[in-house]
Amino acid sequence: GWPTASVFTQAADLARSGTAPEAGPRRGPHELAFMTQRERSEPLEPRDSQHRISESEIGAAFGPTGYVGQAVDRYEHRPQQEYMAWKVAETFNRGGNLIAEAGTGTGKSMAYLLPATMHAQEHGETVVISTNTLALQDQLFRKDIPKLQAAIGSLEGAAEAEPLRAVTVKGRGNYLCLRRWFASAQQPVQDAAEAGLRAKISLWLGETQTGDRAELRLSPSEEIRWRQYSADDNACQPGRCVFQQRNQCFLFRARREAESAHLVVVNHALLLSDSLSGGTVLPDYRRLIIDEAHHLEDQATVHYGVSASERELTTLLDGIIRTEGPIQLGAMMGVVQYLNRPDQTMSDAGRNRAGTALDRAKQCQEQVQLAQTHGHQVFRHAFTLSTRDSGRPGGDRSVRLTRDTREEYAWIDILDNWSVLEHALNGIDNHLKWAKRTLDDQEPGGDSDDLTISAFDTVSSDVESSIRSLGELLAILRDVIASPRDEQVYWLERTQQGDSVTFKSAPLEVGGLLQDRLFSRMESTILTSATITTDGTFDYAIDHLGLPDARQVNVPSPFDYRTSAMLYLADDMPEPNQPLYQRRLQETLIETCAATGGRGLVLFTSYAALQATYQAIKAPLEAAGIVVLAQRVDGSARQLIDRLKHGERVVVLGTSSFWEGIDIVGDALSLLVITKLPFSVPSDPVFAARSEAIADEGRNAFVDYAVPQAVLKFKQGFGRLIRSSHDRGICVVLDRRILSKRYGRSFVDSLPECTVEIGPVYDLPSIAASWVGQRGTGATGNPDAVDTSSAGRPAVRFL
Ligand code: SF4
Repeated sequence: GWPTASVFTQAADLARSGTAPEAGPRRGPHELAFMTQRERSEPLEPRDSQHRISESEIGAAFGPTGYVGQAVDRYEHRPQQEYMAWKVAETFNRGGNLIAEAGTGTGKSMAYLLPATMHAQEHGETVVISTNTLALQDQLFRKDIPKLQAAIGSLEGAAEAEPLRAVTVKGRGNYLCLRRWFASAQQPVQDAAEAGLRAKISLWLGETQTGDRAELRLSPSEEIRWRQYSADDNACQPGRCVFQQRNQCFLFRARREAESAHLVVVNHALLLSDSLSGGTVLPDYRRLIIDEAHHLEDQATVHYGVSASERELTTLLDGIIRTEGPIQLGAMMGVVQYLNRPDQTMSDAGRNRAGTALDRAKQCQEQVQLAQTHGHQVFRHAFTLSTRDSGRPGGDRSVRLTRDTREEYAWIDILDNWSVLEHALNGIDNHLKWAKRTLDDQEPGGDSDDLTISAFDTVSSDVESSIRSLGELLAILRDVIASPRDEQVYWLERTQQGDSVTFKSAPLEVGGLLQDRLFSRMESTILTSATITTDGTFDYAIDHLGLPDARQVNVPSPFDYRTSAMLYLADDMPEPNQPLYQRRLQETLIETCAATGGRGLVLFTSYAALQATYQAIKAPLEAAGIVVLAQRVDGSARQLIDRLKHGERVVVLGTSSFWEGIDIVGDALSLLVITKLPFSVPSDPVFAARSEAIADEGRNAFVDYAVPQAVLKFKQGFGRLIRSSHDRGICVVLDRRILSKRYGRSFVDSLPECTVEIGPVYDLPSIAASWVGQRGTGATGNPDAVDTSSAGRPAVRFL
């Protein structure tokens, strides 16, 4: 029956068709399906070159007649790009760090890719480039790097030079673990869905070169099942793994390819997890470029934080010992079965061992049951605590665990159950460690060329993986529940469906951690983004990300915002918390969107406000022939953006993810409405804890933290409007606090210099229609790139 049939029928077909070489006598059956000979790539050889990239080399690439322009279609010479490329090159030459804001349209990707390539090829070193989004990772890998390869390839003598090698590396969970895959293929299949996924993977395995799940296009439910086959820290023992030794392991092959690449493109999540694990996935590197650096603090907060849910606890315990009908399964039962094999019980010592294993498994089962019961109580009381405010309007899904919370009755119940749970988990750990020691003594002497996944390998790997996972979960729960630290923020978070709760924790500040775990290992780190400065300074970024000694460069956009963008600040809107605000917002949107014929994006800070507005404006605007589309109502974000891009008379309403990353060139997006200044929710546990910590230092948390954070998001939102030198549009701010509050000026001052109008909402429709009705004057370019390392603030100001 299954699974042998599916895996091996496919394997046999492959062998018959000649795709796979014939299996030799010593090969395990799994090799039939996976026989491609794998070459090991040669790692880069570091060279002690004294050569430094010169300004003229950068000019020869990016200048008006430079070779980048010769090789790239519709290339526009941009002094800003050349300037930024030189600053990056200088940083590589001298060492040290750079923090660079590059306005929209600078062409910053090429501006860092070229000097990075020059440095990597000259010195035989890998440069790592990290992005926040898959979209930018894709753009670098599929568009910018090939352009760069073409440009370099066009140079005289390029044929003899070392070719530029670039790879993308993803997190472990993206790669199929061959060991886990073939081990589970020996187990019976649980249901039809699992059978379907196994069939899909079997077919794919005959073709894939990467083992990357992105090629499989998994459904959400298949994604969950995929985790049992994917590479996993706790289940991976490369020293003992035959697939690793034969260079067949997809994960380690990706790593080896990275060792031989000049440019390695990763995302922030992988960069940070690798920094935590001491560099187990990425090769050795000393030069790092972090693009979309405004996301680094949030990503570090998540990746340097931890969480524990009841589901994780249950899955872990189930993997150790569980009963299914008359059968008992799990790592401990695997040990019992292994030690009860005839070849193991021929001697008295063997029979004693088998008997002890059975006794231990029984005790372990009792402790698993105890852990399940008290674990459930811990999470049940945590859920109660997390719902205490859910009745009030705007009640949050998260409840911060403060000293006060830890004195409530529900917390005392949690502590009572935790003490039993901890005792039980320690007992289980004890049994698993006994099993590991016993197995280690029994390890069969193996021929490393024997490719079968032996029962010993499976049992031993299950036990080791259980010990590691249990140790991690125990440490997290102990930290969150029993031994909280001052430098961490702790909270409870209910799922979106509101049916369960997770314990979470994150570092109070990440700058020091980034410095210790990442930046201090680098000779050069470059942080860049289109939005890093607030109020013209890098203070906020440096305060929150570290790198106080970094040189600072602000490269303005080459677009002429004065002629292409109008910022309209409505001075007669009620403030957002006033009763008439929502009605005025709706009326204004209806009239303004009708006047511009749609072509609009309306940005909200809460989904509730978006829904209320959508209900109110949809019918009147549709009566005027304008289609209104709302996030999560009318399709996925990508579908809505496509309809705005390609449709006429469309208005899209969006929240969080729509504030950045949308890149619509041309008339399709001419009206951008910011309904409210994007301040963080004050009760957000991390935001609240960080604000408190700033206040404890005697600083003003609102001015030093809340405002700059909101300004960065506001700048991102504004950045959606003008995406090319021929775009023209109006950005309307319907939050009067931008005019009435002193901090409002920080928002306006942080934008590029554009045309500003302040006036009543009554005038807005005619002004908007007239502004977007005029054709843009095209790019005039603004070549004044400003190095703020000495000046402190960029020269570009307005108002
Ligand atoms: S080395 Fe690790 S990830 Fe690779 S196949 Fe072996 S166990 Fe799986």
